[in-house]
Amino acid sequence: MLRQGTHRVGRAHDGVRHVHGVRESNHGVGGHIYSGGMTPSPRTQPRPQRPLALDEATVRRMSARVVASGPAQERMTPLTGETIGALPTSTPDDVVTAYERARAAQQEWAQRDVRERVEFLTRLHDLVLDRQDELLDLIQIESGKARIQAFEEVLDTAGVCRHYAKKAPSYLAERKALGALPVLTQARTHYLPKGVVGIVAPWNYPLSMSITDALPALAAGNAVVLRPDEKSSFTCLRAVELCDEAGLPEGLLQVVLGDGPNVGGAVLEHADSVMFTGSTKTGRIVARDAGERLKSASLELGGKNAMYIADDADLTRAAECAQRAVFASAGQLCISIERLVVHEKIADEFLRRFLERVTAMKIGVALDWGYDMGSLISADQLERVTQHVDDAVAKGATVLAGGKARPDIGPYCYEPTVLDGVADGMLFRDEETFGPVVSVYRVSNDDEAVALANDTDFGLNASVWTKDVARGRAIAARIRTGTVNVNEGYAAAYASNGAPMGGMKASGLGRRHGAEGITKYTDIQNVSVQRLQGFGVPKGVSQRQFARALSTGLRVMKKAGLS
Ligand code: NAD
Repeated sequence: MLRQGTHRVGRAHDGVRHVHGVRESNHGVGGHIYSGGMTPSPRTQPRPQRPLALDEATVRRMSARVVASGPAQERMTPLTGETIGALPTSTPDDVVTAYERARAAQQEWAQRDVRERVEFLTRLHDLVLDRQDELLDLIQIESGKARIQAFEEVLDTAGVCRHYAKKAPSYLAERKALGALPVLTQARTHYLPKGVVGIVAPWNYPLSMSITDALPALAAGNAVVLRPDEKSSFTCLRAVELCDEAGLPEGLLQVVLGDGPNVGGAVLEHADSVMFTGSTKTGRIVARDAGERLKSASLELGGKNAMYIADDADLTRAAECAQRAVFASAGQLCISIERLVVHEKIADEFLRRFLERVTAMKIGVALDWGYDMGSLISADQLERVTQHVDDAVAKGATVLAGGKARPDIGPYCYEPTVLDGVADGMLFRDEETFGPVVSVYRVSNDDEAVALANDTDFGLNASVWTKDVARGRAIAARIRTGTVNVNEGYAAAYASNGAPMGGMKASGLGRRHGAEGITKYTDIQNVSVQRLQGFGVPKGVSQRQFARALSTGLRVMKKAGLS
């Protein structure tokens, strides 16, 4: 059982020590200084015999939190490929049961004042920070990412809690609007919860992607049926347990488990409002189904994000940031950078600094700090990345760094890879790769950079590097992406919880964070009260006189600046 303050040492029935926490986990497993990539450097440590499985009591407790009557399904860790535990699967009937329970709990929840509803967020904020060691272990075990990138999820989750705990009351406050007939008409806007929000979450950010979209939905007075990805269910369940501990009333947050098309599809089919994060391909299916049912759908989809390094950029900062923004979570981050667009005047110097950093990256699969990059999450992801790189190379691209799998470090590890000469017709040129790979393009001015950044079906994130912030803002205004980071790669925009983030074009519909990230879970109702004189023609007044009087009234309103 993972408990606060214990750095995770569980004992299963067989007495084997399971899942290691920060202090006990420094086995040096798979730790490795990346050496530039053309030949694998030797492993610094032998592969460990270290069980990462969760203990039986933890698995049993988490299983009980799922509405599931189907068979148990084993989960494995990409760190080593070993089994970490089995969780039950939900049937279509289980999904119906989850919705029934959620609907029952939501009735009373919706009646509560929003200030009362956000109280659990304040407590959850502290719990997430206090229990971060066990959360970091789980995130790493399920996703294979480096600990520092797992920590981003802790930060994100705490940030979302803090933001909506403070801001939800004002975002959802009743608003007055100017009535049709000033003084006589009183118009007010109310934000009513949709009912039960169905969330299908992806695997790449096991903590933050599975729980942070549920938090504003709950704060807005909804219940939630949450279906995390099968590869990230344990972390999600731990987050759900922390919500319970933070005081979220029973029944409001239901969890079901199972595959995407069946269980995920069933969750979305019954939802009053749909929240989906995943690929554009699946997003189109989800949008079509939601459209047929006339349900609102927020879709956070893929990206092919560009970073432009202008000729006046701070190259030291840009190189550091490019390394982080390309290789965070081994590139399995929807807003990570897959295209480096570099001004030709500084291209050689930028690349020298960037490649120096890339080839010095420390890759490892240890449950410990100190690594720059971990593993990909699965054999499928490794195959996709390998296919994209091999295809580019076969069609004429050059490998500047990396370019191959590293099974000697972990079963799904792939080197941080930099490609040059990526051109039309290569898979990597236009498809989202979702791996630790970036291509380099040289441009001679800002116009070319903007054109290249926009030359994609996607429109999720972009980054612009220039010391001239006004120039950066001007370039940003011409880039068609939902977020643009000036002098940062992705974190500045994403972590600014008060500002919305999401995609343009094939990167999605709807936004998370900010007012948009919570009002999307509401139906907006306009209640207008008419006093005294209404809109009918008064007795004794001709229709012509009435029309003239109203026309005069409109002119007066315009003059007075009323709108
Ligand atoms: P995917 O679309 O294949 O799957 C995403 C999730 O949807 C998975 O949990 C999957 O099981 C489920 N799913 C699959 N078919 C479904 C269906 N018919 N109905 C309901 N659910 C279904 O994507 P993936 O390759 O697993 O995830 C990576 C993708 O997610 C990338 O494209 C990435 O950019 C995107 N993503 C976007 C954001 C964002 O905020 N924009 C964040 C994270 C990931």
